[in-house]
Amino acid sequence: MITFKNVFKEYGNGVMALSNINLTVPRGDFVFLVGSSGAGKSTLVKLLIREESVTRGNIYIHNQDITKLTKTQVPRLRRNISVVFQDFRLLAKRNVYENVVFPLEVQGHSRAYNKEHVEHALELVGLKDKAKSYPSELSGGEGQRVSIARAIVNHAPYLVCDEPTGNLDEHTAMEIMAALENINKAGTTIIMATHAINIVNTMQKRVITLKGGKIESDVERGSYYEMV
Ligand code: ADP
Ligand code: ADP
Repeated sequence: MITFKNVFKEYGNGVMALSNINLTVPRGDFVFLVGSSGAGKSTLVKLLIREESVTRGNIYIHNQDITKLTKTQVPRLRRNISVVFQDFRLLAKRNVYENVVFPLEVQGHSRAYNKEHVEHALELVGLKDKAKSYPSELSGGEGQRVSIARAIVNHAPYLVCDEPTGNLDEHTAMEIMAALENINKAGTTIIMATHAINIVNTMQKRVITLKGGKIESDVERGSYYEMV
């Protein structure tokens, strides 16, 4: 379970990006984080992966308060929570297999262990036949699915996605959502920040709406209506 308790984030310039955020995400959930630009979605994601630190409050992952982690402990956080960005961030000189195996290599498992887990991750995103391709040879949707495979290969229980379909057309975006739904069904808890109204309304999952740094609503099987 992830818990935010009275979380505030104020940037150095005085912008209060998040104020008094309280929420819980149980294991197995699929949660959309929505809201117009500047609402605080990216900030919430950055706090979860400790790319930014809270100004006040606590964030618990598995009963561990991640706001208390020291800099040297932060890399270990990625074993519990991994992340997918809008801009895939693949290594151009490595093929698909080599990109996906990357997070496992530092852990010192056997080659057979790595192979099994990379193949399983590629299978979950429907890319088993692309293992030898290079990023430049992939479509946008395939590139994002590789980045998702890399994020799940170490079986972190939580996956955070920040606008994962932002660079993709509608059809390709739905392929990404199918891959994420597969991954969620296989047991990974997913938190996805997005502007994509159609996706949110099609998927019928939990929807947390941020507005001006506050939680405006939090509904099961919700929809997203952007207030103009
Ligand atoms: P969203 O992802 O919903 O568009 P953000 O979390 O990026 O929202 O931004 C929330 C608010 O915090 C905005 O007012 C934004 O300008 C501000 N903000 C975001 N990042 C920074 C930063 N690094 N320094 C100062 N202000 C920031
Ligand atoms: P998105 O809307 O795609 O989430 P943003 O425009 O909110 O992207 O932010 C893009 C980057 O710029 C982020 O790294 C964010 O932290 C930073 N940023 C956003 N607003 C500000 C700001 N007012 N001052 C400094 N950095 C900012």
